Amino acid sequence: MENQTVEVLTKTSLEYPITTPYRATQVIESIPAMRRWSADERRQDRRIVLVPTMGYLHEGHLALVREAKERGDRVVVSIFVNPMQFSPNEDFAAYPRDLERDRRLLESEDIDALFLPSTEEMYAAGAQTYVQVEKLSLPLCGAVRPDHFRGVATVVAKLFNIVQPHVAIFGEKDYQQLQVIRRMVRDLSMDVEIAGHPIVREPDGLAMSSRNAYLTSEERRAALCLSRSLCKAERFLRRGETSASALLGLVRAELAKEPLAEIEYVKLCDPESLDEVERVEGAALLALAVRFGRARLIDNRAVRR
Ligand code: AMP
Repeated sequence: MENQTVEVLTKTSLEYPITTPYRATQVIESIPAMRRWSADERRQDRRIVLVPTMGYLHEGHLALVREAKERGDRVVVSIFVNPMQFSPNEDFAAYPRDLERDRRLLESEDIDALFLPSTEEMYAAGAQTYVQVEKLSLPLCGAVRPDHFRGVATVVAKLFNIVQPHVAIFGEKDYQQLQVIRRMVRDLSMDVEIAGHPIVREPDGLAMSSRNAYLTSEERRAALCLSRSLCKAERFLRRGETSASALLGLVRAELAKEPLAEIEYVKLCDPESLDEVERVEGAALLALAVRFGRARLIDNRAVRR
């Protein structure tokens, strides 16, 4: 295998294929080239693992990449800031981007292919087909971002069709997104295994997020109240407090200590259906979204009684 070479299939190189050592990261920009790459790998019985991202990579993304390497033979990372999952009043244009840095980070992780489609490549003019995971898209973030999960499900379904992965890895930081995708895969009989990865945090507890770049230093300090409030609720649960109203009250009180924190929601829900629960009985999910200036941050904790 060592000496084997393949074509670098990018939009520009399609006309003038060049060859590179087999393990080099290939940057693939077109859908047909991505399909050909995957078909070739599948023919050789290689297990393809996909890590979909919107770029501006951090250690949370890289942890998913490392898990992907454990789970298969070939790792594809996609970077695509998906306009369909942003509403017109959201931060699509301002979303942080640094492709050069992302490419360097991925190069040092030794991935196999980077799928980097343009918006035009992903959404042909006149596109009018969506994937809607109905009930799971409604609560939590869906209540404030009504079309968000339709955009997420649609782009992830497209990525699955294009990349044809055996496995795809998603972070539990975006817990509702993970549940929406699991449901979509079951409902549409997609042949992809979905793996969740635990939340990766900064040493002081803040969940890593590309949107942390929006925080001023004062907001960054204040944002610690998210993880702190979740830890506090968990401590009270361990001491026997199982009522949702008591636990949510505690979280809200902790968040309210930070004048810069603007609570969007704090909920206790069933980890599968995401329906709100009145009490922790077995497994439950404590989930919250809080705004700090222009940054909207989410966090969650799986708890158990
Ligand atoms: P994004 O680029 O924000 O769309 O994230 C791409 C993937 O990385 C998603 O599956 C996220 O859930 C995951 N992810 C982002 N931040 C973290 C984190 N702090 N810990 C674990 N996974 C994360």
